[in-house]
Parts: sequence; C-alpha cells; structure tokens
Amino acid sequence: MSEPTFRMSQQRITVDDKKIINNDRTVDCNQLVPIKYRWAWNFYLDGCANHWMPTEVSMQRDIEQWKATNIFSADERHVIKRVLGFFATAETLVGNNLVLAVYRCVDNPECRQYLLRQAFEEAIHVHAFQYIVQSLGLDEGEMFNMYREVEAIYEKDSHAMSCTSSVLEMNPDDLKTKEGLQTFIKNLVGLYVITEGIFFYGGFVTMLSFGRHNHMPGTCEQIQYILRDESIHMNFGIELINAIVDENPQVWEEAFKADITEFIKSAVSLEQAYIAECLPNGILGLNQQLIQEYIQYLADRRYERLRLPKMYGSSNPFPWMSEVIDLKKEKNFFESRVTEYQTGGALEW
Ligand code: MN
Ligand code: FE
Repeated sequence: MSEPTFRMSQQRITVDDKKIINNDRTVDCNQLVPIKYRWAWNFYLDGCANHWMPTEVSMQRDIEQWKATNIFSADERHVIKRVLGFFATAETLVGNNLVLAVYRCVDNPECRQYLLRQAFEEAIHVHAFQYIVQSLGLDEGEMFNMYREVEAIYEKDSHAMSCTSSVLEMNPDDLKTKEGLQTFIKNLVGLYVITEGIFFYGGFVTMLSFGRHNHMPGTCEQIQYILRDESIHMNFGIELINAIVDENPQVWEEAFKADITEFIKSAVSLEQAYIAECLPNGILGLNQQLIQEYIQYLADRRYERLRLPKMYGSSNPFPWMSEVIDLKKEKNFFESRVTEYQTGGALEW
C-alpha cells in the first residue's frame, strides 16, 4: 500500500508534479488548481454551456405523427424503433463504463471534473430516450430489451463491453505495466472512439433525416443536443488517449497500433450490419451504401485524430451533418427556435 497523501505538509503541488494517470498519490487528487490540462477544463466549461433537459422539448407533434396512420411507412417505423432501442440502453452502458472504469483509473482532477460533467450528461441522455419512448407510447419492454433480443444491436454492445470487464477488475498498480495501460487505452477507444464516435452515428444520421423532412421534431431536437454533447465527449476522449500515450510512449508500439486499427475496423463492420438490419430497403434518400460511406468517412477521421493512418478514403455523403454538430445552443437546426437555457428559477424568500 502506498502512503496516504492526506497529511499535514508545507509542500505545495506544482503543475510539473501532475500527470494524467498514475499520480500514485504523490499529487493531491482533490486539488483542481493549479490546472495543468487546460483542454480538460475547457471541455468541462463547454459542456456546462450546452446544458439542456429533455422535458424542455415538446413531444406533441411527434406524438401526433406517430399516432397517425398515413405518415410513416412500416420501414420507417421499424428504423425509428431500432434507433431508439439501441440508444435506450447504450447511454446507460456508457455511463457505467465512465463511472466504474474510467473514473477510477484517471486520477487527474481536471479530467475528473470533465468526467463528472460527462456522467451527468449521460444521465440526461438516458432520460431523453426514456422520455421519447414514454411519450410515443412505445412498448418499453421491447425497447429496453432490444440490446439482448436483436442480434445487430447485441453485437455492437458486446463489442463495446468486451474490453471493459478487464478494466473493472484492474488494480491501480496494473496501470503501471505496459499491458495494463494498453488494456485501459483500448477500453477508452471502445468507449469514446467506437461507441460514441461510430456506433452512435448510424442512429444520428437516420433520425436527423426524419427531422429534415419535418418528422419527429421533438425527438430530433433532442438527438441534436445529444449529438452536440457526444461530439464533445469524443473530443475529450481522444485528447485523453493522446495525452496518456504522450506521457507513456512505450505503449504505442506497432503491435498495439495494429490491434487498435483492427478494433475500430471491426466496429465499422458491426455498424454496417446494424444499418442493414435497420434499413433493409432505404428511406428518405438514405440507403445502406450511403450510410456505410458515412461511417467509413467518420472512422477515417477518428484514425487521423488517433494519429493512425486512414483506412477507407471515403468522402462525406452527408455534409449537412457537420452543420448539426456545430449547432450553437441558441438555435434549433430545423425550426430556428430559440431554446436558450435558463439556469434555475428565481428563488423566492
Ligand atoms: Mn451520451
Ligand atoms: Fe457520451
């Protein structure tokens, strides 16, 4: 056991003492300041500036459209349910990984500050899908069991979870070995790059296509906010991975890079299988081919950010998605409605 850090001392911590992980209790994990990893603090501020709550969004038109018999085809109903069914459990899965695995291993306070913010955002996303499912009167048993009952969704989730269990069993000292660090980094790739950066996007692009046709506006407004949150989550995750690699360059060996490359590649195939199951016949100008191209385009961008070579060379068939990702909080992409968030009500004394 290492010595407890909390004791009387006149020795103060400087930024040079701080590390992303493996601080070994030599640095007080309760001292945010002095901040070393400014990017982590900035991501925290960005997350706070984007605050939103699902129940602020009206589901009235979605409910009317879903009830009507002449608006959605059977194929459209199928894909909407598959997308909501995937997200219904995926957001909880992400939250659990974050709090139980990632938070334990990352002992830098700036990063933990962001992780706490992100964990709350995952709770909001879980809430959003519960709210959508309930508003539309969907079969809750069907939606919340889909990740065990629909193979294409099961495969995505087990791929995402495959590297989490070994991190859950880790002792802090395991992070000091090259193998332990690699296991942890692979879990970060599975969470931030694959789940949030690839597996979410088939659903995002499909649902937002309904929004572009003025269908399911309340659901799509929430999906836009989620997409905006998720792109910050992924950006934080990639910075985190790269910072760990920079501080521990011995982990980034050729065999490990090849393993990560393959891990992402297999996720792209699983996302394609999921899209094929969701969208057998194509809808709203979307088809499997275009979404496949889009997912490959995204995967290439993720590879580049991880400083790995691109694998696909596909171009972006949905340039409008970039506009949604850059959405500013005050404007709704589809309706240009002002949705300025008000922090708390006025207190009455
Ligand atoms: Mn989320
Ligand atoms: Fe997330």
